[in-house]
Amino acid sequence: MTIEEFRVTRNENLRKSNMERYGFGLNVMRNIRICTSCGRPASADRIHCSCGGVLSGETLFQQYKKRHRFCHRCDTIVANDVKFCPECGHRI
Ligand SMILES: [Zn+2]
Ligand SMILES: [Zn+2]
Repeated sequence: MTIEEFRVTRNENLRKSNMERYGFGLNVMRNIRICTSCGRPASADRIHCSCGGVLSGETLFQQYKKRHRFCHRCDTIVANDVKFCPECGHRI
């Protein structure tokens, strides 16, 4: 396995763990906010959930970013030990 293949595989694994944990990818997370009353996800362009509760002020992706390292240039979530973004090469 070359270093490049190794990097791609790691990146793919990270993506998969994100998908498994939340059931959807980062692009979807950018468009989802969580209801502060019932905890269900709702479309980020809405103000209220279908239950009538108020949606969180931050998207799911913004909340997720607070708990993980990410690339400041392209917003890719990265593993704790990487020095450069696997997507755009930006120094983390
Ligand atoms: Zn709700
Ligand atoms: Zn990047």
